[in-house]
Amino acid sequence: MNASDFQPTRPIAYGRQHITEADEQAVLSALRSDYLTQGPLVAEFEDKFAAYVGAEYAVAVSNGTAALHLCTLALGVQPGQRVITTPITFAASANCVRYCGGEVHFVDIDPETALIDLAAVRRLLESHPKGYFHGLIPVDFAGLPVNLEHARQLCDEFGLWLLEDSCHAPGGSFVDSQGQAQHCGNGQFADLAIFSFHPVKHIATGEGGMITTNRRDLYERLLTLRTHGITKDPSQLSRPDEGGWYMEMQELGYNYRLPDMLCALGISQLQRADAGLDRRRELAARYDAAFAQMPGVQPLAGAAGHAYHLYVIQVANRRGLYDFLREKQVFAQVHYIPVHRMPYYQGLGWLEGDFPKAEAYYAHCLSIPLFPSLTDEEQQYVIACIREFVSQQEPA
Ligand SMILES: *Cc1c(COP(=O)(O)O)cnc(C)c1O
Repeated sequence: MNASDFQPTRPIAYGRQHITEADEQAVLSALRSDYLTQGPLVAEFEDKFAAYVGAEYAVAVSNGTAALHLCTLALGVQPGQRVITTPITFAASANCVRYCGGEVHFVDIDPETALIDLAAVRRLLESHPKGYFHGLIPVDFAGLPVNLEHARQLCDEFGLWLLEDSCHAPGGSFVDSQGQAQHCGNGQFADLAIFSFHPVKHIATGEGGMITTNRRDLYERLLTLRTHGITKDPSQLSRPDEGGWYMEMQELGYNYRLPDMLCALGISQLQRADAGLDRRRELAARYDAAFAQMPGVQPLAGAAGHAYHLYVIQVANRRGLYDFLREKQVFAQVHYIPVHRMPYYQGLGWLEGDFPKAEAYYAHCLSIPLFPSLTDEEQQYVIACIREFVSQQEPA
């Protein structure tokens, strides 16, 4: 089709939530219940989410950033400890280390996938004495799951904990060395995994997040840290006989709880998660087919268990395409400005040129619309707009 054959009736963003009547009813009934926060829907959402990803435990929290913060607290990150992550992620993946006073160390990406390059992580680990680094935070960027079996081997060899930032990949999986599909956040390899329910993510609660783990010790610490460091468990109290009201704040915690109303929305959305994932994959396959015929447009590598939070293309004139699409009511986005290029991290000593592959990727990447309610016509329109733009460009 030609871009001019179809006029979008709404601006087409790179991502958006999908709210159904069932979602509205679920929230309404939570509103009319006895609980606005911390009622029965919290545990229900946690249990259903744990089952969805295949983990033993899940802890619902106020957002993905709070999830990351609770994880670095539970893992005991101390001032000066060194933690490795990727520059191609949302800043929160790195910031959670700073909240605890730790040092963030970036490792460059694999340009084919834009995921952290585990071979480069190994080289960094080998060039320092054992014990120099404390943790690794890989990110399932765009929905492509990191090979956590490899990451785990590295972490075990060098004594690091492993925290998977899976905000982009609920429902995603990679195939392990035994040929088994391993779902993101299933706790088989990572100590902890985190998810976000921001509206552009697969499951939307407005603000919201989840931590999953198979480690009971971490699970229990997370529960306490989520609620001010307070416990009511009689077996944990230093003065167990004070009375029924009694509780103790045993360490410095936070209020990072997710209210019942939002858990109601999360439970309702989770029921449709697989359908949403199928639709994302269907749309991605159509983009793949279209761009295979379009010189000048280079998508990131795909894979079987890809969860397709984002569909990223790389083009020579990214700024031109971004502006061109905006004029056509298509609101693409850039994921991400490398974290080490943020003024805050530059202030900590990171420089332009430190991670050339991440910077080269950033110079050309663009996330184009991908979300379950994107219609076939809207997608065809997006493709037609991109085709129109690249056909006007000088051949390289
Ligand atoms: C969205 C996101 C977060 C933060 O989640 P919030 O719920 O917005 O706090 C962290 N990491 C990645 C990779 C994300 O995409």
